[in-house]
Amino acid sequence: MQKRVEILTGVIILLTLFTLNKDGIAQNKKAEKDISNLLKTKSVVEAILVIESLESTTLKELVTLTEIPAPPFKEKLRAQKMTQLFEEAGADKIWIDSVGNVLALRQGKKHGKTVVLDAHLDTVFPEGTDVSVKHHGDTLYAPGISDDTRGLVVILTVLRALEKAKIETNTDLLFVASVGEEGLGDLRGVKHLVSKEGHRIKSWISVDGTSINEIATGALGSLRYKAIIKGPGGHSWGAFGLGNPHHAMAKALNYFADEGQKFTTEVGKTSFNVGRMGGGTSVNAIPFESWAEVDMRSENPTYLKKIDSVFKSSMNKGLREYNQHLLKGDVLTLTLTPIGFRPSGKTAETDPLVQRAKAAVNMLGGIPNLITESTNANIAIAKGTPAITIGAGGKSDHAHALSEWWMNEKGVDGIKLALMITLAETGIAK
Ligand SMILES: [Zn+2]
Repeated sequence: MQKRVEILTGVIILLTLFTLNKDGIAQNKKAEKDISNLLKTKSVVEAILVIESLESTTLKELVTLTEIPAPPFKEKLRAQKMTQLFEEAGADKIWIDSVGNVLALRQGKKHGKTVVLDAHLDTVFPEGTDVSVKHHGDTLYAPGISDDTRGLVVILTVLRALEKAKIETNTDLLFVASVGEEGLGDLRGVKHLVSKEGHRIKSWISVDGTSINEIATGALGSLRYKAIIKGPGGHSWGAFGLGNPHHAMAKALNYFADEGQKFTTEVGKTSFNVGRMGGGTSVNAIPFESWAEVDMRSENPTYLKKIDSVFKSSMNKGLREYNQHLLKGDVLTLTLTPIGFRPSGKTAETDPLVQRAKAAVNMLGGIPNLITESTNANIAIAKGTPAITIGAGGKSDHAHALSEWWMNEKGVDGIKLALMITLAETGIAK
């Protein structure tokens, strides 16, 4: 009996795998057809020609936008320029929302859910950074030129191509130039938009990064804190014996490094990092404050929760033990202030959006590679909306560094890719 049950289970598993595989192949074929049909449509061919003919404009706009600083929380100037460029390109409605996102709506012929095409306005570079673009041969150097100014130009050019080729889509299409993607911006632009409009969104396509081969379907989640330990502070000789926040911080972080390492070795890649530390006034003063900024990441929401609790318990343990051996004065206190949360998750490979993106990459002669990243798409993914992040085309390196560069090597393919995936999602009105 036992044996028969096992055989039966085996047969069922095989059948299920076979059906899944068959479904997968069928979906694949359907997506390939969606994309190749687009390429047989006259207006789409026209739109692609428009994209090619706009090369010098897109390059000029890349320089113009890059040279408008957009430091974290100060994207306003660039948002104003984007508004003007969207207006010139033509959309049915353009506005800046309450958090500063620039939105351009292009209405579809049928009512229903909206497809979103997004790129982010902000850069990681602080105010005062030299953002002028330097040309060295065919390479353009400037902070933020690829991440994500190139993305902005891509979505703008897709809008322009749709307008010039007079393509009417079935569903509404919303172009988003978002604020707060980087660092402590904590995806605030998209968080706001999805909390308001999430239920109306059919699929979300972010343009961020460069290579057209890389399709991010996984959302790398992260949790960030600022830990602060406080005490009375005093003279290093005269007040010796008072609690020293730096000493307590070192003890607590030492526990975290040990326990965190143990956990990540157990479960596979989940990362943790103390990125910045500070506090104190002088080498001969007991500081009244010690602070540290901590970042933890995982593709898996459960592991993210777990490393979070490892962090909290290590910090509390370190401080408790330190306070137990105080020679004199008040005990030190610890606060853990959350400064960032990006949820994790994944858009299934079998989802039509992913299949269409893969088919479009193939059609352009690329080799699709599904990856995991932390981008605006995280927010849509965590809400259960199909979302991906695609590359903007060209070549680049040194993102987030002053030496960032971008080169126009088949950059136009990034725009065509965004156009094809977008149209496959919206459909074209007959
Ligand atoms: Zn980016």
